[in-house]
Parts: sequence; C-alpha cells; structure tokens
Amino acid sequence: MLLLIIAMVAVFYVFDLQQYLTLDWLKTQQTLIESYHRSHPVLTMMIYALAYIVVTGLSLPGAVVLTLAGGALFGLLWGTVIVSFASTIGATLAFLAARFLFRDTVQSRFGQRLQALNQGIDKDGALYLFTLRLVPVFPFFLINLAMGLTLLRTWTFYWVSQLGMLPGTLVYVNAGTQLAKIESMSGILSPALLGSFALLGVFPLLTKKFVNMIQTRKLYAKWQKPRHFDNNLVVIGAGSGGLVTSYIAAAVKAKVTLIEKHKMGGDCLNTGCVPSKALIRSAKWLSHLKRSKEFGFGQASVDFEFADIMKRVQSVIKTVEPHDSIERYAALGVEVIQGEANIVSPWEVQVTTADGVKAITTRSIVIAAGAHPFIPPIPGIEKINYLTSDSIWHLRQLPKRLIVLGGGPIGCELAQCFARLGSYVIQIEMLPRLLIREDPDVSEAVMARFKQEGIDCRLEHTAKQFVIENEEKILIADYHGQQVRIPFDEILISIGRAANVQGYGVEALGIALTPRKTIDTNPFQETNYPNIYACGDVAGPYQFTHTAAHQAWYAAVNALFGQFKKFRTDYSVIPWATFTDPEVARVGLNEQDAKQQDIDYDVVRYGIDDLDRAIADGVAHGFVKVLTQPGKDKILGVTIVGEHAGDLIAEFILAMKHGIGLNKILGTIHIYPTMAEANKYVAGVWKREHAPQGLLKWLERYHAWLRGQ
Ligand SMILES: Cc1cc2nc3c(=O)[nH]c(=O)nc-3n(C[C@H](O)[C@H](O)[C@H](O)COP(=O)(O)OP(=O)(O)OC[C@H]3O[C@@H](n4cnc5c(N)ncnc54)[C@H](O)[C@@H]3O)c2cc1C
Repeated sequence: MLLLIIAMVAVFYVFDLQQYLTLDWLKTQQTLIESYHRSHPVLTMMIYALAYIVVTGLSLPGAVVLTLAGGALFGLLWGTVIVSFASTIGATLAFLAARFLFRDTVQSRFGQRLQALNQGIDKDGALYLFTLRLVPVFPFFLINLAMGLTLLRTWTFYWVSQLGMLPGTLVYVNAGTQLAKIESMSGILSPALLGSFALLGVFPLLTKKFVNMIQTRKLYAKWQKPRHFDNNLVVIGAGSGGLVTSYIAAAVKAKVTLIEKHKMGGDCLNTGCVPSKALIRSAKWLSHLKRSKEFGFGQASVDFEFADIMKRVQSVIKTVEPHDSIERYAALGVEVIQGEANIVSPWEVQVTTADGVKAITTRSIVIAAGAHPFIPPIPGIEKINYLTSDSIWHLRQLPKRLIVLGGGPIGCELAQCFARLGSYVIQIEMLPRLLIREDPDVSEAVMARFKQEGIDCRLEHTAKQFVIENEEKILIADYHGQQVRIPFDEILISIGRAANVQGYGVEALGIALTPRKTIDTNPFQETNYPNIYACGDVAGPYQFTHTAAHQAWYAAVNALFGQFKKFRTDYSVIPWATFTDPEVARVGLNEQDAKQQDIDYDVVRYGIDDLDRAIADGVAHGFVKVLTQPGKDKILGVTIVGEHAGDLIAEFILAMKHGIGLNKILGTIHIYPTMAEANKYVAGVWKREHAPQGLLKWLERYHAWLRGQ
C-alpha cells in the first residue's frame, strides 16, 4: 500500500500534474471545461469528484484550486455538496492510510507516553478535531495524517471533518462562482473571515470550559464562602497519603490540620504492610527451620506459641509507631487532631473529638481516608464471624483449618504465613490462577511453592454460601457447576478493598465517584470541587503505601500552589511487590498488559537458579523477566520472582524512570556474589540475543585470516 501511494505521488510530480491545479491554468481552460461539463454533466461531476478524492487522499497540493473549480462548474449549492463529500472522503482515506500504515507502530512504540493523548482523544477528540478544522492555521493534510495515528473513531473523524470543513468549503466554492474576478488565492480569505473561522473553531472548546465553570459554580453556590480561613489545608486521614500531604504542607509553612479518627499511620502501620511483613518474617524463619537438613543441620525443632508471634507483630508496630506519631508531626508543624472529620462545606470541616465538635475553615481539603476490606454479600456470611485484614491481628490462637478467600496479594501473603505457622490453609480463588494481574508464569511459580508447602489451593471455586452444621462452619463453593463443601475453623476474607467514601461528607457534598466507587480525581488529584483533593486508597487506582505517598505530593502541592502551576500525577513508572515466598516484584508492563494494550515487545529472561549467590543461600529459584522495545534496550517493564525481588527491582525502577537501558545496566559493575547480579545477567542475556550476527560472522573470518587459515 505504501509503495502504491509513493508511486501515485511520484507520478503526480514526475509528470508535473501540479500545472493543472493552478489558478492560471484553471482560468485559461475555464471555457473548455465548462463546455465539456455542459455536454457531459454527470461524467464531469464524477471525474471532478474522483480527482478531488485522489488529491486529498494522497495529500497532494491543489485542493483549493479544485474547490474554486467546483464553484465555477457546479454553482454554489452543488459545488458545496460535491466538494464537501469529496473532500471528506479524501481526508478519510488519508486518515485511514496513515492509520493502516503507521498507527500500530506509533501506538506500540509510544503507547505508554501517548496514554494522556489517547485519553484526551477519547474524551474530547471530536471537539479538538472540529477546532483544528476551523482554525485555518493547521494544514488539512497534516490533520488527516496525524488523526489517523490516534485512536479516534473513523466515523467521528468523518462527520466532524465534514461539519468542520463546511464553512471553508462554502467560502471557496462561492469564490469559485466568481472565478474570473479572482486574481490570487490569498485574497479569498480576508483577515476578518480568517478570524471568524478561528473564533468558530475555538467556540466549542470555550463552550465546554464555560459549561464546566458554570457547573463548578453551581456546585459551590449552595455554600457561603468564608471571608477568612483558619487554615490553608485540612487533611482527612493520617495514613500514608494523609501523613505525606500534611508533612509537605508544613514543610512549605502552610497552616495544616491533620485529622485522624482511629490510629495514626492508618492501615499500613496498624493492619497492613507493617504487621503483615512482621508476620511474614516469623513465618519465614520457621520455614527455614523446616529446611534445616538442607543447610547442614540435623533434626531441628522449635517450640513456639502463636500468641508470642502475634505479640512480636504488635511490638514491631510499636517500634515503627513514632515515625507516624502525633508528637513527630506536631514537631514538624502539623496540627494533629484525634477525631472524626466531616466535610460540611467545600471550605469547612467539622471534627468530632472527645471534647466536642470543632469547625475549621480552610482554603483546601485533601481527603486521604483510605479503604476497608470489601465483604461480599454471600448468604450466611453474617453468622460465621469472619476475619479480615483489620481483625486478623487480634488472633491469639492459630486456626487449625483456615480458609483464605481470595488469591490476590493480601490473601497470598497471609495464606502462606498461616500455612508456615501450622494452619491447614485452603485458599479459594474463583479465577483460574492466583495473582491474576501478574503473568501466568509468575502465578505458576507462586502456586508451585504454595502446593509444596501444603497450601490447598482451590482455583475456579466461587464461594456461594456459608452454613453451620453441628457447630461446624462450612463454605459451600461452586466448582464448574458442582457443589463443593469445605469445612473450616476460621476464614479470612481478602477479596479486595473498598474506598472509604461514606459518612463524612462525600455523599452530602456530591463529590463525584468513579464506577469503582473510589473518589473521582483528575490528573491533578482534584475532585469535582477544585479545592478538594483526594489521594491514596480512597482515590485509587493503585492501593499501595508508596503510591498513596506519591499522589500525596501532587495533592499537597496542587492544593497549595495550584493557582500558579498545577502538576499532573506521574504514573509512568509504578512499581509494586507481593511479599510471598518467592517474592514477586514488578515495574511497568508485563506480557499480559503488553498484549492487552497491543504493545510490541521483546522479552528476555534470566533464571535465578543459575545465580551463584542464590545457590549459596539456598534460594536458587525464580527469574528476572524484562520486556524491551523491539530491537532496542529500552525497558518497558520488569517482573522479578525470587528472594528479595522487591529490593532487586529498585535498579530497574531507577532505569525506567531515567531512561536507562539494558546496555547501561550491563556496563555497570555489580558486586559479586549478590542477588543483584541477576539484573546484570538478564541484561547480558538481552545483549547475547541481540548480538549482530552478520558482524560476528565477519569477525570470525577476520580472526581466521589472522591465523592464516
Ligand atoms: C494486609 C495488608 C498488607 C499490605 N501490604 C502492603 C505492602 O506491603 N506495600 C504497600 O505498598 N501497601 C500495602 N498495603 C496497602 C497499604 O496499606 C495502603 O495502600 C495504604 O495504607 C493506603 O494509605 P492511605 O493513606 O490511602 O489510607 P489508610 O492507610 O487506610 O489511612 C486512612 C486513614 O483515614 C482515617 N479516616 C477515614 N475517615 C476518616 C474521617 N472521617 N475522619 C478522620 N479520619 C478518617 C482512617 O482511620 C485511616 O487511618 C497493604 C494493605 C493490607 C491490608
């Protein structure tokens, strides 16, 4: 197709067909053409339309002259109709050619970077196109080709183009009806007319902005704006998101109040990352003991009380607590209030404390209220006294038979802990594999270890009902249409986390939510109230401590300085880890994401079973998998499965963030023997797989020649 287009364009220039598309030629041939038109009206119209479509379809110069000819030949009405359809069809052909030839390459190469553009096109594409069509600064052929590279729908492109080009078409066709009087093309569009077109073009965009402004005003109209404010910022929730927000606000000397109704540190410190990692450590220690022979010890055993392990978990929390304490934040300049916040107006937050209710007026609010475990409405669930990631930390007796409902990161981490500590763990997952967001080979590696450690993984099982029979709790699950009964002593529900959006003013103010029932924020962390921001689990889309902290920076800075400059939250390099054994860490794309997003990639893999340090440490398993741009060393994403994967991936996070490729990682000295060498070795695998084979053959011949052979 490309060759055909090139050939047609070449014919146009080689045979100098351009000479027939000039004002002078048209004027000299006008009588001849008109007489031909009179004798063959339909044929002339068809030839004319075809010529128009070919010229615009091939992005050749001459459309303006053709449009004038249309006016001269067919008059204002028919000229406009014919030109309007022919030009739009031609433009659409050019659009489709660009799309067919280049869009996949462009989208797969720059897919991630084009994300914002694609979202913009998805949301406002028609408006932008309309503006471009009407503001005569942008050459039409460029618009056709550029739009073909985006995800704009063809039908949208067609009708918006036809509509947007209509005023211009009218002006030129009308001018064509007076062809004899036209001396040059530049005179056709007067500056005033050009200006009117530009105005018409930006009108829809301005209207949209205006409508948004009115809607925002309407939102605020219900409340009286205070003349003075107590605060610059009020932050709701002292978890990872809220702590970082208030820290930043205090650092730049804003007056900020942080309100926490429960415990400072939020989920991460009290019921999430910290206790889970502490429990994982104890369980891991025990797992090593079970492998004592492998390490050269005879029979090794240990006495332990589960309650003591859970006490250690609490003592770890106590040790970390000062980092997130009221005292620390007060010393940093944050006013911390222990109480329940309620947003009563866009500029006022009421706090209910043990001493009563206090009202704070504020210029901006950041909501960082977190999330809670989602409890599915399974019949009988209310009778079984289930555990969640909030309550499991109160357990002091190890459950004999523990069901873990859910095969996501939290379910997997805790299932393995309890299995290692001695529970019989049955993990129920309705999907065909654990850790569904990761690639299948990752799920397989984790599942293989889980099975080896005695976890009873039940995939494709859907929990349907809970019953209690003879004082025994039973889960009834559906497995491929069959009813499966699973008795248990305790059950941990870990099938996801729902944002905290109720009971503190979000519904009352009408703060918009996403379909996933998280607070809807724009790229600046702003809600539909431009002075109310949200970050962390309550906003999503990620639910990690580090992403909450990352968003918090944007929420704080935009809330305090947004009137000067706003910063878009940068989601270009988001890493995470699941702390199972083997650990799973990821940054950027994995294979299933790349396939879903239609992004081309090369993949290289290094098996950690080959790594000296891993062998010495008895952790010779797992892999490093890197996705790169085809033929280049640019990293698109990395998955590491294995010991310390969450730490090892830091090198790739840095590399991706700063555009460092595998060649540079390969050229960096890594200490021997360390696990981190795996990163260098995977870069080595890439290098070998991309070695220039042709050049190497020549080198072989060269060396042979040196040897005189
Ligand atoms: C078991 C488990 C393990 C996890 N492990 C990891 C991990 O290893 N790594 C990782 O990155 N992430 C992990 N997470 C996720 C992490 O804990 C969360 O992403 C993080 O805590 C989110 O922080 P946040 O500030 O958004 O919310 P939160 O930490 O939930 O804080 C929100 C706070 O807001 C308070 N609040 C709510 N409403 C009000 C109100 N009206 N007035 C006053 N205060 C209010 C709440 O009491 C809470 O303290 C884990 C989570 C769980 C459950």
